[in-house]
Amino acid sequence: MSLGRTLLLRASRSAFLAAQLKRRAFVGRAVRRFMPGEELPAALDAAERLAASGLNTVLTQLGENLTSRADADAVRDHYLGVLRDLQRHRLRAHISIKLTQLGLDVDRGACERSLDALAASAEGTGSFLWIDMEDSHYTDLTLGIFRRARAAHAGVGLCLQAYLRRTGADLDSLLPLAPAIRLVKGAYAEPADVAFPRKADVDAAYLALGERLLEHAARGARPVFGTHDVRLIERLRARAAKLKLPPGTCEFHLLYGIRDAEQRRLAAEGETVRVLISYGTAWFAWYMRRLAERPANVWFVLKNLI
Ligand SMILES: Cc1cc2nc3c(=O)[nH]c(=O)nc-3n(C[C@H](O)[C@H](O)[C@H](O)COP(=O)(O)OP(=O)(O)OC[C@H]3O[C@@H](n4cnc5c(N)ncnc54)[C@H](O)[C@@H]3O)c2cc1C
Repeated sequence: MSLGRTLLLRASRSAFLAAQLKRRAFVGRAVRRFMPGEELPAALDAAERLAASGLNTVLTQLGENLTSRADADAVRDHYLGVLRDLQRHRLRAHISIKLTQLGLDVDRGACERSLDALAASAEGTGSFLWIDMEDSHYTDLTLGIFRRARAAHAGVGLCLQAYLRRTGADLDSLLPLAPAIRLVKGAYAEPADVAFPRKADVDAAYLALGERLLEHAARGARPVFGTHDVRLIERLRARAAKLKLPPGTCEFHLLYGIRDAEQRRLAAEGETVRVLISYGTAWFAWYMRRLAERPANVWFVLKNLI
């Protein structure tokens, strides 16, 4: 892992830096490249604009590692409201949550009940609930909670991270559930015995896992590729074509503000594309991870300062 990436990921955990940078207007301007605004209406407006150009969306309110049960319950209630809003606006959008945002660190039982409530509401409103994958301390817990939710609800999917050495085995153990899996490379700082440190190894693991998911699509798995890596996307599309999978069998999910032209190109070529729109005030750790993915983005922040 590069020094720049390591430093940015370390910075993402600093409460001091978060408080300092969130006060600076030039940082706020740079953040807006990746999010349409801090409030839900801005995210809904962006989702409507994207829908008009043939792009579906996933909405996520930023926040993680909540330490109060009341705050976690408020997040659940917020998302229940979002699902009602999506139905009212006739938006075919999904939602994506982090389990630590639903209070996993505080009370696992309450977190599972909140997840059940969201999964049931997502099903009832024609939406879909995605569970993000956080750092590797949470992998076992997240898999266990996903299995339990998937047994009760069809409309819930899980993110898996290709950089983790364990993910091949995790995917194999999940495939009998005919799961919806959003495969990503992985965004956290992990030790080398847990995650591949070299990008080339992460990319190779992503391709192998993606191909395995596609091979299981005929048996009910729902492959979703969360990446901006055009080379990988094209190789997975070629594999899907070779397997003669009907259009729409797999989806491509990209982040708001990243590779917009690519998002439109894929949709124009008949792929199902979803844009993940983040909103909310707790953007610091999330934004640092976006900078770490492409340290050249730091230049963009500095340009806003100048
Ligand atoms: C829909 C979605 C959901 C995600 N959910 C999770 C999750 O739950 N858990 C998790 O750990 N990670 C998650 N991630 C983040 C993911 O793990 C990667 O950190 C991120 O997607 C960058 O990897 P990449 O696949 O785009 O490939 P890379 O090889 O990093 O990037 C490929 C190309 O995409 C462009 N690009 C990538 N990132 C940026 C950026 N920040 N700014 C500008 N250009 C960029 C660059 O041109 C780059 O060359 C998610 C990503 C997406 C798209």
